[in-house]
Amino acid sequence: MKVEQTLSIIKPNAVSDNNIGNIIARFEQEGLRVAALKMVNLSKEKAEGFYIEHRERPFFGSLVSFMTSGPVMLMVLEGERAVDRNREIMGATNPADAEEGTLRKLYAKSLEANAVHGSDSLTSADREVSYFFEKSDVTDRF
Ligand code: ATP
Ligand code: MG
Repeated sequence: MKVEQTLSIIKPNAVSDNNIGNIIARFEQEGLRVAALKMVNLSKEKAEGFYIEHRERPFFGSLVSFMTSGPVMLMVLEGERAVDRNREIMGATNPADAEEGTLRKLYAKSLEANAVHGSDSLTSADREVSYFFEKSDVTDRF
């Protein structure tokens, strides 16, 4: 099966709740490798560009404010079916709908502050990984 890379973000609520380690541990337990990682404060411009597909949605301004309210952890996860598996591990967008044991069920505070982001397709993953990481910042497996 094909190895994929996907972008994961630990959102400000999960960082401020000290759940970085719990979330990364879960990805590793599920067999996803962390291929790149950095902690940043997103600028308003960077957050707006990241969520550009949602710019007409009523929640866009609030989402950008939330994503710039504190540090986030940006990660490239790698593994078989990494894009879909990350989405499964995260659970539904709204934590009220997320299954038991998913990261959003465990660590989300609300629909907006839902702990994690994951690319929703291979095409998005390519765009999102290169939006935040230089090719040379993404490690190879040896
Ligand atoms: P993400 O892109 O963050 O992985 P997703 O793909 O599950 O989440 P999207 O529809 O892309 O969901 O929405 C992007 C983010 O916008 C959501 O994760 C959530 O933080 C926020 N969001 C989505 N819908 C709403 C809403 N109705 N009200 C407030 N915030 C919302
Ligand atoms: Mg999305």
